[in-house]
Amino acid sequence: MADPRFDAVVVGSGPNGLAAAIVFAGAGKSVNVLEAESIVGGGARSDALTLPGFIHDICSSVLPLAHASPFFRTLSLGDYGLTYEHPAIPLAHPLDDGSAAVLDRSVDVTATGLGGDGAAYRRLMQPIVRHADMLTRQFLGPPRPSVHFVTLARFGIPALRSAAALAAGRFRTAHARALFSGLGAHSMLSLRRPATASFGLVLAAAGHAYGWPFARGGSQRVADALAAMLRSRGGTIATDRRVDSMSQVLDARVVLFDLTPRQVLPIASGQWPDGFSRQLQRFRYGPGVFKVDWALDGPIPWRADACRGAGTVHVGGAFDEVVAAEDAVAAGQVAERPFVILAQPTVADPTRAPAGKHVGWAYCHVPNGSTVDMRERIEAQVERFAPGFTSRILARHVMTPADIERHNANNVGGDINGGIADLRQLFIRPTARLYATPNRRLYLCSASTPPGGGVHGMCGYFAARKALQRARWS
Ligand SMILES: Cc1cc2nc3c(=O)[nH]c(=O)nc-3n(C[C@H](O)[C@H](O)[C@H](O)COP(=O)(O)OP(=O)(O)OC[C@H]3O[C@@H](n4cnc5c(N)ncnc54)[C@H](O)[C@@H]3O)c2cc1C
Repeated sequence: MADPRFDAVVVGSGPNGLAAAIVFAGAGKSVNVLEAESIVGGGARSDALTLPGFIHDICSSVLPLAHASPFFRTLSLGDYGLTYEHPAIPLAHPLDDGSAAVLDRSVDVTATGLGGDGAAYRRLMQPIVRHADMLTRQFLGPPRPSVHFVTLARFGIPALRSAAALAAGRFRTAHARALFSGLGAHSMLSLRRPATASFGLVLAAAGHAYGWPFARGGSQRVADALAAMLRSRGGTIATDRRVDSMSQVLDARVVLFDLTPRQVLPIASGQWPDGFSRQLQRFRYGPGVFKVDWALDGPIPWRADACRGAGTVHVGGAFDEVVAAEDAVAAGQVAERPFVILAQPTVADPTRAPAGKHVGWAYCHVPNGSTVDMRERIEAQVERFAPGFTSRILARHVMTPADIERHNANNVGGDINGGIADLRQLFIRPTARLYATPNRRLYLCSASTPPGGGVHGMCGYFAARKALQRARWS
């Protein structure tokens, strides 16, 4: 082969692709990123989806994992325009009686709000929060299941349990049970599945230790800051460059794919033994999401005061209802009363809408590739806890799972996590080789590798380190 032009080419400019490129550039290697779309960022993009002056996050909006990311924390992204804005309250979960369970930044305030379950909540969360930095490094670190669960067991943390069993076993009040079910539902699995408790524990701990912030001006600022930092280290980015064949990446010693297995296969399956392609074909995708963004004439008129200052609101009612909604999705059905994850970025970042106006961002889980229109059901759930909400809608933008995949090919069937994260695929992701392939030139660096979905860049960081170690550089 002629001397390649770049030490590395990264295919895809999501948070993981950009993180991988930054690691390469930091190691003094030449690196180029090829992005299919005209704007960088993948799942960290924002746009005026509804009306002029209203900035909406097209995919990710709530950024506890970005803020906690051990790699991003080393990058001084503030120097490249990224500022996190914290809402007064990270998360609220309203109930039908007009009250709400609240995840506050403080464990004590949260526990006090949970009344009879305050002591149980403190016992559960305090050890995790006390060791949050160490646990974050482990959870956003390379996958070592034995170390993960042994460490957690040392703190008496029942992460291997199902979220439903943990909520029902540890808590007696409707508030604590509802709060924990909503956190566990971020797993996108039935809450009766093992290890779904770990999602709830990690997200609650992140809320206490780091907050659940937004990026000022939109999540696009995370991608823009990463891109600017990459360029400052000499890296380059080419947009409108969809890669569909190895012939487009011949100019690189090493190629890192910020893509999921289904996209990598048609590009690279000739580059390794068929057995490895078969392993990639067996990788499983999870449910999709149906998303609605709103331009609003004013704040959402929640009945529960706490919801008004919360960045994120879990809209799904009581524990049993949340469990049933997620069970329906796991069984391949849509829920009549879906569990809705709603963010109101303008409570923390007023720059995203004209004075006095607001934006709302919400989605619910649906079976992968579902074509059912969930818009009315999502809005009915919000109206249930915020009477008068629909009359504040100035404009809306709806994305079906197919639209979400059209926006970014990594969101296969609307799956926002790059593949289901059940107990097996939490650690063996997408194969037991993780970031590596049988070809020392080719690596995987997307959310389809550990530690999985979310804006944190850690998949890209570990993949790049693996490639730097393993590739032939001379
Ligand atoms: C609706 C939605 C809501 C979400 N909410 C949150 C949230 O609130 N908080 C959070 O932390 N995470 C959230 N996520 C998840 C988060 O966005 C992803 O896990 C994260 O972006 C994954 O990063 P990545 O770099 O692995 O891939 P992606 O961000 O998906 O980037 C992949 C990139 O590759 C490009 N690409 C694809 N195919 C090709 C090709 N053939 N050639 C060249 N380029 C290609 C894509 O255009 C894209 O830019 C959400 C995702 C979605 C879709």
